Amino acid sequence: MKKVAFHTLGCKLNFSETSAIGRLFTEAGFVTVTLAQRPHVFVLNTCSVTENADHKCAKMVREALRAAPAAFVIVIGCYAQLKPKEIAAIPGVDAVFGAHEKFKLLEWITDWHKKQPNESATIRVSPIQEKLTFSPAYSIGDRTRTFLKVQDGCSYACAFCTIPLARGPSRSATIEAVVEQAKAIQDVKEIVLTGVNLGDFGIIDAQRQTNFFALIQALDEVTSIERFRISSIEPNLLSKEIIDFVATSKRFVPHFHIPLQSGCDKILKLMRRRYLTGLYAERITHIKAQMPTCCIGVDVLVGFPGETEADFLTTYHFLNELAIAYIHVFPYSERANTKAAEMAGVVPQQERVKRARMLRILSEKKLNDFYRQHLGQTATVLFEYGADDGVIEGFTENYIRVQLPYQAGLANKLYKVRLKEVNPEGMVVPELSS
Ligand code: SF4
Repeated sequence: MKKVAFHTLGCKLNFSETSAIGRLFTEAGFVTVTLAQRPHVFVLNTCSVTENADHKCAKMVREALRAAPAAFVIVIGCYAQLKPKEIAAIPGVDAVFGAHEKFKLLEWITDWHKKQPNESATIRVSPIQEKLTFSPAYSIGDRTRTFLKVQDGCSYACAFCTIPLARGPSRSATIEAVVEQAKAIQDVKEIVLTGVNLGDFGIIDAQRQTNFFALIQALDEVTSIERFRISSIEPNLLSKEIIDFVATSKRFVPHFHIPLQSGCDKILKLMRRRYLTGLYAERITHIKAQMPTCCIGVDVLVGFPGETEADFLTTYHFLNELAIAYIHVFPYSERANTKAAEMAGVVPQQERVKRARMLRILSEKKLNDFYRQHLGQTATVLFEYGADDGVIEGFTENYIRVQLPYQAGLANKLYKVRLKEVNPEGMVVPELSS
């Protein structure tokens, strides 16, 4: 039996695509193993957003070959689409597949012999603009939640971002295909809708044919799934009708992750984002008016070119005032072929690190406040598999992480709980009520 191992860098979309490619290998007779089990084939799914993507990619290839020196190494993903030649030059890489080709790699590879040091790796990467089809994918990681890819690519042009270059323009599955896929997913209580620019859902065959609001209305009728979660949505696309629908929906949970990137209008304009802080604050106010317990997460990029100390403090104060629960902070790092890489006003690295640290501290405080606001209240928890260190963990509808001493039989079940206290690990301890 041929053995294959996978490693994924980057976002949920990459994880769902790795799973989809994994299923293709299974259909072809492979069994999925870990690196320690010395696979015949190793597939590395890369990310271009990850800092030091090149180093991480080379490091992972080295690690894989240390564990399985004879493994046939295939590199796919956003970084493979952007820098195929650099990846092909990494010692031990046998094949590099682009965004278009990765779902067909088993058809492309006919010769599985490991390349000799004097042979070059096979490269199959076509220009991204040729990639207009949508390839469905879903992951089943912890077996309680599935990340279902419903949209791919992005047609925005944010100044710092390489994703449109790596994944091409926005395109989607049809609503019928997503509903069918959601119905076919078995034994999983929660589906997380995933995409690059999820709120832009609805472009099929290069034409806008439907929209995200219509998708969530259709999914709300899928009775075999208990919960749907929206992974991330741009503030300009998070319309009031979507917020109002989630507030009264049967299955969509009160949790939004809304990229902000900067809380300073000058920087938002330089970043070429499609909203200003006024719109963002208005969305948060509307969400909280409709769903007071809603969890709101934010992405922020610090140290963008031109961001002065005063601009950063404007962002800090803006975030401090917002009714949000957590912040994912990213220090800006230069990316080739982006507008931002040519901009003046480069912020020194140590300043980027300092600003990121300040926002991470603010995020911890916000999360702690959010958790404490809910103590004494009841919630429904979906417990996860995995009993590391004798504990079992899960999430409430509004994304409060709870932890209990391990009890058999809780995993993949929804339980009503009362949220009792915050433990030293920063998680909430619940009391089971039914
Ligand atoms: S919305 Fe902007 S940041 Fe997000 S994927 Fe598109 S271009 Fe990149």
